[in-house]
Amino acid sequence: MIDYFIDAAAATCMRRQCVGGRMWAGLLVGRASASPAPIHGHVLLPPMGQSGEHVRLDPRHVGLLANVLPDGGVPVGLLVLAPAAVDVCAAGRTLLTNGALVCVVPAADGNVLHCRDLATGQEASLIEVEDLCGLTERSDVEAAADAFWQQLVGEPLPATPSWRCVLGAPLAQSLEAFARAAPRAEVGGILLGTRHGPTTHALAAAFPPQAHSGWNRCEFETATLAAVCDALGTNAALRPVGWIHTHPHLGVFLSDTDVTTFRQWSALDPRAVALVLDPFAAGSEWLACNSRCRRVVLEVRERAPDSGEAAHLARALARPGRAGSGWQVVCGADTD
Ligand SMILES: [Zn+2]
Repeated sequence: MIDYFIDAAAATCMRRQCVGGRMWAGLLVGRASASPAPIHGHVLLPPMGQSGEHVRLDPRHVGLLANVLPDGGVPVGLLVLAPAAVDVCAAGRTLLTNGALVCVVPAADGNVLHCRDLATGQEASLIEVEDLCGLTERSDVEAAADAFWQQLVGEPLPATPSWRCVLGAPLAQSLEAFARAAPRAEVGGILLGTRHGPTTHALAAAFPPQAHSGWNRCEFETATLAAVCDALGTNAALRPVGWIHTHPHLGVFLSDTDVTTFRQWSALDPRAVALVLDPFAAGSEWLACNSRCRRVVLEVRERAPDSGEAAHLARALARPGRAGSGWQVVCGADTD
């Protein structure tokens, strides 16, 4: 039996990816330094069509991805997120002749990874290694994934590539604590802050009563946005600057539903940012995206301007009859 080695963090990420019961496929990425090549991460491929049972891929995408991989990075196999254990070795070999085929199969007690050797179709063992790749290599893979999506499905990046979202450390900590309080349900809200050129400063978040809150979905009424603006008043420096929601235990990404939701949101506010937070990932994971659903720089600063207005907003929203009950406003630690 062939032994494939996989970075433990990458394996965790693959297990988390299996949400919504839909099939997805991607390329395993690694370095051709050993045989078989170790697996450092994966990049999801844009599906040409998908349903519960099948997913179609364009072989040209595999070639395109190989071109944008960082120095020394190579496709080392295929990843399939399958609703049930499937044998796709034969189909997989039309995309890639050699390497590992890793299937993620959803299970009640944590999704399971199965591995086969693509060339032979034989069952292979997948050995997880702590920190198989350093952090630099991991961000190389992420950068490659970004470049790849831009080429394939993206419109070009906005003219100002320096879009960034700045968050004060006290606010980041308060939001992580808030998100940890709901370990089994996503919670969504309105990000509040100020804008300076291409930079968004997030200063607080207002979470309305949730119309729906499940393990992989959350919803709130769009009318709540008007309630926030009303509570802030016309002279407030603090304005809605985007959308924030939690992904407890799921890792950070924009799901299909998230992309649809955020496209609607950013049609009304093209400079809106989307923040996604998984407070249960090691060290908490954050993702910031611009209105084109592209990752932007998220900078957490030790010292950031705190807005006393957030405390005022919390009081205004809590006032009976104002916006309905059940609002929660999260701001930096020292605003009340
Ligand atoms: Zn989401």
